[in-house]
Amino acid sequence: MRRGLLMKDDQYCSEQDELFGEYLRRHLVQSHPNPDRIGCPDSRIMRDIAFRRQVAPETIKMVSSHMFKCSECARDALDYVKEYEDFMQTTEGK
Ligand SMILES: [Zn+2]
Repeated sequence: MRRGLLMKDDQYCSEQDELFGEYLRRHLVQSHPNPDRIGCPDSRIMRDIAFRRQVAPETIKMVSSHMFKCSECARDALDYVKEYEDFMQTTEGK
């Protein structure tokens, strides 16, 4: 019975996650402009994280907490994730 409930909740949650993800995206890329790129991590690191390369956990933590305060990095990260998805699609098609 507990399991059934959980499954139902999971289904509901994944829809919520998508909405929340979209909200979060918009919020992140608009709410914290940082035109001078103060405290921004190296863009190569951002790219490595998006491409699931090996990055030290402390670095990931540092970058993700920075992203919540910096729209520029949030936007860059979304671009890299998109790039990674495109990359995966091309390689999968082989
Ligand atoms: Zn930044």
